[in-house]
Amino acid sequence: MSYQYRDIARQRLTKAKALLAAGDEDSLTYACLEARKCVEALAYDVLAYYLRDVSLKAMKLWQPDKVMKELIQIDPGADQSRILSMQTEPVGSDPPGQWVTIGEDRRLSAQRASKMYHQLGNYIHVPTIRQMEKSEPRDVSTIRKNVEQIVQELDHVVASTVWGVVLVDGITFTCVCETPIRRTQKFLDNGHQPQCGNCGQMFTVEHENGSEDWYFGPVRFNWFCDQCGIEREILQSKAELGLDVSCPACGLHAILGSITSWRVKQDKPDGAKTSPRQSGASPDCAGS
Ligand SMILES: [Zn+2]
Ligand SMILES: [Zn+2]
Repeated sequence: MSYQYRDIARQRLTKAKALLAAGDEDSLTYACLEARKCVEALAYDVLAYYLRDVSLKAMKLWQPDKVMKELIQIDPGADQSRILSMQTEPVGSDPPGQWVTIGEDRRLSAQRASKMYHQLGNYIHVPTIRQMEKSEPRDVSTIRKNVEQIVQELDHVVASTVWGVVLVDGITFTCVCETPIRRTQKFLDNGHQPQCGNCGQMFTVEHENGSEDWYFGPVRFNWFCDQCGIEREILQSKAELGLDVSCPACGLHAILGSITSWRVKQDKPDGAKTSPRQSGASPDCAGS
C-alpha cells in the first residue's frame, strides 16, 4: 500500500511559503499551521516505511517523539539523512566500478521535528493567561524569523529526490496473521519480544549464540477445562476481556477474564516491624 504523505508534505509546504510571502500577521499564523502539517506528514511518511516493524501500540499512541523513539530502536538511522551510492561488483579480474551517487534520503531528526512541532503550535495559539499577565507582547518579527528558518529546513527535506530507503539488516519471520515481521538482531538480543504491527501478536524468541537459527513462538494462554480436563489455549492477540471460550468438547461455559494485581508498599514507621501487605492473583481464565 502506498501512502501519499510525501505529496501532502509538499502541498502544505508550498502553501506555508505562499502565506509567509504575504507578509501580514494573520498569514504568518496560517503559515505556522501549514508548516506544522508538513512536519506531521513527514513524520508519518517515515513511520510508513517501518509499518512492518512498528508495534500496534506505538501506532495507536501516535506522538511524534514516542514513535520515533521506537523506530530508532529498530533502525538507529531512522531519523538520519544519508547519501546513497552504488557501484558495480568486480567481475573476474575486472575491478569494481566507480561509486555513483544516487541521491540523499533527507530526514528530520526526531529531536528537531518535535521542537518544530511544538514551536509552531505555540505560534498558532492565543497567549495563555500567564503570558498575558506577564504582558509579554507577541514578538512578530522573531516568530517570522523562526518560521522562515523552519520552512527552509522543511524545504531541504521535501526537496530530496530519494526517500524511504530502509537499510535494516534484520531477521524476518511471518506472523500467525501472515504479516512479515522484521527486527534487527540487536533488538532481539536485548530480550525484546517482537510484536506484529498488524494484529498485535507477541512472540517469544529462542536463539543460541552463534547459531543462524531463530525460533519465534506466538505467546498464548493455556488452561484446562474444569469439567472434562482437556487442555485449552488462545493466542494472546485473540484474547479479549469477556470473550466466550466455552469448552468445545463438553460445552462447559467459560469466559475470558483478567485480574490485575496491585501491591502496596508502605514505609515502616521508626522502630516498627511491619511488612508490606500483598494481594492479587495472576491473570487467569474464569470458568462458570
Ligand atoms: Zn500478526
Ligand atoms: Zn470441557
